[in-house]
Amino acid sequence: MKAAVFTGPRGKIEFSDVPMPMIGESDALIRITACGVCRSDWHIWNGDWEWVFADPSRPMILGHEAGGVVTAIGKGVTSVAVGDRVTTPFGHACGRCGQCLRGHQNRCERMFFPSIQESGGWAEYMVVRDADLNAIRLPDNVDDLAAAALGCRYMTAFQAVRDRGALKGGETIAVVGCGAVGLAAIEVASALGGRVIAIDIDDSRLERAKELGAFAIVNSRATSPFDTGAAIKAHTRDHQGAEICVDAVGGAVTFQSAFYGLQKGGRLVAIGMTGKEDNGVIPLPIDICVMNELSVCGCSGIPVHGYDELLALVAGGKLHPAALVSRTIKLSEVEQALHDIETFNATGYIVINDMTC
Ligand SMILES: [Zn+2]
Ligand SMILES: [Zn+2]
Repeated sequence: MKAAVFTGPRGKIEFSDVPMPMIGESDALIRITACGVCRSDWHIWNGDWEWVFADPSRPMILGHEAGGVVTAIGKGVTSVAVGDRVTTPFGHACGRCGQCLRGHQNRCERMFFPSIQESGGWAEYMVVRDADLNAIRLPDNVDDLAAAALGCRYMTAFQAVRDRGALKGGETIAVVGCGAVGLAAIEVASALGGRVIAIDIDDSRLERAKELGAFAIVNSRATSPFDTGAAIKAHTRDHQGAEICVDAVGGAVTFQSAFYGLQKGGRLVAIGMTGKEDNGVIPLPIDICVMNELSVCGCSGIPVHGYDELLALVAGGKLHPAALVSRTIKLSEVEQALHDIETFNATGYIVINDMTC
């Protein structure tokens, strides 16, 4: 099969022929119809994240936002059949550990990561481990591009707003960073009745945020995190700050901007992960956190049961992940896409939808 192969940090992504992957008894093989190019792929390609032990062996097929069609199943698989259209989360849960049994499959203690531990979705085919749990069947009217978007960024944004941020209708939520995951958070928050403030350094991304429902925008290019926080507060009731702020980038500037935009008792949800400038550590103004009773939490993926509500909203036309796809490319063009992500030269999602060339 054709695949785009990672050869090492900042090395060439080689478009080449590789052997077909093998499946075990509980697995499914899917033919990829679309796979996203995520900032996390860029982080891995850039050689980041050794501080969280996400250091794949090489050569490795990256890509973790895959949608596709089931072409083979192991003899123990009962919930999907050959021909089913599926999406799959970026990490495959085991279904048997303590976290999985408590319903937190996105916190699985034995999480299996395609593109880190084994081949991911930048290929014609990939394996979905424990397919009864990790192959999520799609409603007919959820298309292939949406299936790819639902594998990582969009579903994480949904979980961040709906569950970790616990947004209630009428609350104000500030989303710092209007890249692909930030725009998804803005669309989700608007659909769930939030009053959304969008923050970015790029006016075109802020315009897109407005189209997706943001009632106020802040260009933070020339302001300190503290002043960006003040600009967020200026759009809130009595300038008290937002109930929820989301760091949708991952870095000291965006995290602290979100932090300073919170009202007393506010909740900060961090989605993005850091790069080499921060090496996984961001200073937190802890005294303000204590005095103002702030909550800071992270968000990574969604538990499997969370897909029910998310897919219902997509199938019902309330959410439109495919509309955030700004560019579709061929598999052989993925290396250029990584460079575009590095320079933030992309608004919305880049998705590979031709795996053969
Ligand atoms: Zn991702
Ligand atoms: Zn588990």
